[in-house]
Amino acid sequence: MGDSMRAARFHAPGEPLRIEDVPAPSAGQGEVLVRVLACGLCGSDVHFVEGRVPLARVPITLGHEPAGVIESVGDGVEGIKPGQRVIVRPGAGCGQCPSCAAGREHLCERTEVLGMHVDGGLAEFLSVDATSVIAVPDSVPLDQAAIISDAVATPYHALVDRGALRAGETVAVFGAGGLGEHAVRIARLCGAATVVAVDVRPAALDAARDAGADVVINGSEERAARRIRELTGGVDLAIECIGRAETIGEAVKSLRRGGRAVVVGMGAEPIQLPPPNAFTWGEQALLGAFGSTAGHVRSVLSLVAAGRLDLTRSVGMVLPLSRVNVGLDALRASERAVTRVVVRPHEA
Ligand SMILES: [Zn+2]
Ligand SMILES: [Zn+2]
Repeated sequence: MGDSMRAARFHAPGEPLRIEDVPAPSAGQGEVLVRVLACGLCGSDVHFVEGRVPLARVPITLGHEPAGVIESVGDGVEGIKPGQRVIVRPGAGCGQCPSCAAGREHLCERTEVLGMHVDGGLAEFLSVDATSVIAVPDSVPLDQAAIISDAVATPYHALVDRGALRAGETVAVFGAGGLGEHAVRIARLCGAATVVAVDVRPAALDAARDAGADVVINGSEERAARRIRELTGGVDLAIECIGRAETIGEAVKSLRRGGRAVVVGMGAEPIQLPPPNAFTWGEQALLGAFGSTAGHVRSVLSLVAAGRLDLTRSVGMVLPLSRVNVGLDALRASERAVTRVVVRPHEA
């Protein structure tokens, strides 16, 4: 193309992102060029900016939750046309490794994640492999589409796939931020009998109640697991969205016999399991869940397009690219319970 475009670039830990002019990409063989109209920000971006998660190269354009419109397609791309509305998945599988071969491309061993390994979607344009994009139905706004692949499809995968949630089961959600609030909504949608949400932030507990939680527990005021067992006799499924040893421990302790705890939160603390007498005898399971597959993203899109899953309140803040650091600051001050921040790269 030879043109330049604006992008939000990470240079060094602790520094705000810089809005810079960089060369605009073009669609190579097998690629599509996406005009990015919305890109979600999340807690991971805060971790990147603070230097808590090292990035593969610096400087790099952040943004792993882009949605937009196909601008052009490269040679060899079929079935995708300019003008089509799409979500760009954070990373496409290689299609070759054992995980990809098993249809679990989110666990691809060779994946390159946008805004982490390669330049991401906080830019006016993005060229990606054509297999990374998923068509968005006309009825789903792009601001909502942008947050689906991460904030919504991730808890969907955790509940439905890893957690194997069945109608009539009881569910506890630990951490009612962006992921947790959507976990509550999806658990309700899947027919959970009782949904309990745990957090220490009053605003997050209010959001969980609005999302359909039957009971909310402030974990700073009482032991969540004990209260959950009193209320439900132990839940069938606990989803942990924080990634801390203490809350993972509470999630496991909140289970009934035969219950499953699924950890979505990321963290570095070692965790402790209950003694085998409890864990083995009760046939409990502790599972990890990461990201989602293209199939999960399509399922969520179908639910949103059909009006079953309402994401109208999920986007708490919409900003132009020039104000991306305002969004990161808002996420850092999560007490304000901004559910999700979306940046529009083509707005000044
Ligand atoms: Zn994210
Ligand atoms: Zn692979």
